[in-house]
Amino acid sequence: MTPANGPQRTCISCRQSRNQEQLIRYVVAPDGELVVDYRHRLPGRGAYTCLDLKCLQDAVERKQFQRSFRGRCCEADFAVLSAALTQAVEQKIVNLLGMGRKSGQVLSGSNAVIAALRQGSGLSLVVIARDISTAIAEKIEVLSARHHVHCRQLFSKDLLGQILGKGERSVVAVKAGTLADAILIELQRYKQLVREN
Ligand SMILES: [Zn+2]
Repeated sequence: MTPANGPQRTCISCRQSRNQEQLIRYVVAPDGELVVDYRHRLPGRGAYTCLDLKCLQDAVERKQFQRSFRGRCCEADFAVLSAALTQAVEQKIVNLLGMGRKSGQVLSGSNAVIAALRQGSGLSLVVIARDISTAIAEKIEVLSARHHVHCRQLFSKDLLGQILGKGERSVVAVKAGTLADAILIELQRYKQLVREN
């Protein structure tokens, strides 16, 4: 799924080497706080763990962050770091959906999405708000499965609406393409992180 070329880094917990893109990066802020650098963009030395809460938890418990940063960071807090990680993935999905909106790759509203699914019109992914009625959610899930379209429940109607610059939106669909693929990768990561929370 991920290219095997590209820089390799080692998880400070399980010591496994992986493509840097598959790992979570952490840096130390100027005040000594350990922060998640999900986008791999913050300056300075980084430490890495697998995208696995077990590796993060073990790293915290065994004080691997302090060791890795040679004592320059404050005590790591698993609850804080795992919450920051979940939030970072959510933000990435929000940003990607926002990009999809700008480039016309996203459609929204249950009627529009149901119609598009029925026409088999090249959708790759459907996101259903968590606070939608079960009957509509099930209807869309069944239709998605029938047309081999990925379907996930995530966010609230309110947030989906905000992303699209509209009022509440119960359903959002993304057309097949690289953007949908990128969102699917993040949704997979999200599932990995939330499963063990
Ligand atoms: Zn690991």
